[in-house]
Amino acid sequence: MGKQRLRGLPASPGVAIGPAWWYRRGELRVTRRTGESPAAERNRLRLAREDSAAELEALIAARRDRLSPEELAIFEAQRLMLDDPDLLARVEEAIERGASAEAAWEEGIAAVAAQLRTLPDPYFQARAADVEDVGRRVLRRLLGVSEALELPDQPAVVLAEDLTPSDTAALDPDRVLAVATVGGGPTSHAAILARRLGIPAVVGVGTALGEVAEGTALVVDGDTGELIVSPSVEERAGAEARRQIWLAERAAAGEAAAEPAVTRDGHRVEVAANVGSLEDARAAVRLGAEGVGLLRTEFLYLDRTTAPDEEEQLAAYRPLLEALQGRPVVVRTLDAGGDKPLPYLPLEPQPNPFLGVRAIRLARRHPELLRVQLRAILRTGYPAVRVMFPMVATVEEIRWLRELFEGVRRELEAVGAELPRDLQAGMMVEIPSAAVLADRFAPWVDFFSIGTNDLAQYALAADRTNPAVAELADAFHPAVLRLIRMVVEAGHAAGRWVGVCGELAGEPLAAPLLVGLGVDELSMAPVAIPAVKAAIRRWTLAEARTLAEQALHLDSASAVRDLVRAAAPPADPRESTG
Ligand code: PEP
Ligand code: MG
Repeated sequence: MGKQRLRGLPASPGVAIGPAWWYRRGELRVTRRTGESPAAERNRLRLAREDSAAELEALIAARRDRLSPEELAIFEAQRLMLDDPDLLARVEEAIERGASAEAAWEEGIAAVAAQLRTLPDPYFQARAADVEDVGRRVLRRLLGVSEALELPDQPAVVLAEDLTPSDTAALDPDRVLAVATVGGGPTSHAAILARRLGIPAVVGVGTALGEVAEGTALVVDGDTGELIVSPSVEERAGAEARRQIWLAERAAAGEAAAEPAVTRDGHRVEVAANVGSLEDARAAVRLGAEGVGLLRTEFLYLDRTTAPDEEEQLAAYRPLLEALQGRPVVVRTLDAGGDKPLPYLPLEPQPNPFLGVRAIRLARRHPELLRVQLRAILRTGYPAVRVMFPMVATVEEIRWLRELFEGVRRELEAVGAELPRDLQAGMMVEIPSAAVLADRFAPWVDFFSIGTNDLAQYALAADRTNPAVAELADAFHPAVLRLIRMVVEAGHAAGRWVGVCGELAGEPLAAPLLVGLGVDELSMAPVAIPAVKAAIRRWTLAEARTLAEQALHLDSASAVRDLVRAAAPPADPRESTG
């Protein structure tokens, strides 16, 4: 079967990628008559019911920690079904008429399930599957067949016609990446159990699922109900990114991800997210971001033939900011040019794009482009907006930017526009000249945010996009840490807050170093938030300061990493990342 998308009903959230593995339940062959006396058949049935009751009790005991009381109640109800007087009366009557215990039991179960299916409420209809499930349990006992769910040897996506609650409870999340079924509905107990076990599931895909061959690569999206059969490289990468967010969210769920990050001695550090789309903004909030420390706005400008106008930008910013529900948001002005060319602003080819016309250097050549963006950002009226300029190298540049910004602000005030109540303007520190001279930049900004990706590449003269040297551009390098310290000291002396929004901020290992250097805010990919918050909580500020001081006197990035690993206090057992 070639590349294809199938759609079912989303039954349990999460995204998984893996080979298909078919679960096929064996047929239970029932003999109608055994020739035994009714008394003997009744006795066989009693023993089978007792054994089944013991099995269910063992299952309840084994799953007690993982399932909620409501979910355990599914099996409690099945346990009670075994002694249901109406069912037993019907079965005994059939045995009296000469039926075998299994034939009588099968008929009785089928009648109860059929009755449930005629009820108008889908909840009761879905309960029919639970009754059939407990019915099969007893039948297996009567027939002497063991039908423990066989599991794939390697992690796989389990495909099945349908799954019973017993099948689902036996799924091992280490080996079952996801589940997709031909039939079933999202209110079935199998779906409820999959949700509790944290296994993504899509149900009711229909017969097309049957054509997916064993071993075929599959993406299962339990949030949308979509299945991608034989995904392309890009589809796989997209699914992997969504899977990582889901896993991080799941790890965060039981933890204190939404709580602030406070060191053991009570020092609070703001943890924010780097965001480049509406989807990112939503994930940031779910993962416990206290704000956005870097909104990359390039998405508005790339892959198009004309520049986005003011109204179009306003329409793009509004829903994104709304998703952040009043949290402070640092909006970075366009950082294009050089390595990210814009077709509508042709530039001469540049031998060294990273040392060429990029970001605000481009804006200085096209001030109208920046003015339009600033007007759109300010016109959102979002309460806590911080505008941030990328790639500032000289004091002269920041003066020009600040004046342009104030001009736009005045112009909008003059026409009565509703501007952000808490509006700040700051700059990224990505170029060593800005770090070294931070005290001279400070009067022109409300804050500094350190872009360690570029700062490391410029400090170590190693192009971050050139695999031959990219490894050298390591932000753990003591030279980069010293530049960070210079910015923090100059910023704090002038009463400015200082953040870090490069990838370094998302490394749990870097958290104590940055906190120890006095950084006020860390901004990172949303998926990194729970782990970084947990890392901050392991240290005291005093310990982090000592660590940072030691790191500044080492020779290499690897020596810094070793130092942090060796000095890390043990993790708080309440904060295991699950
Ligand atoms: C940085 O340089 O660290 C940064 C955050 O900006 P970007 O990665 O977008 O260049
Ligand atoms: Mg940068």
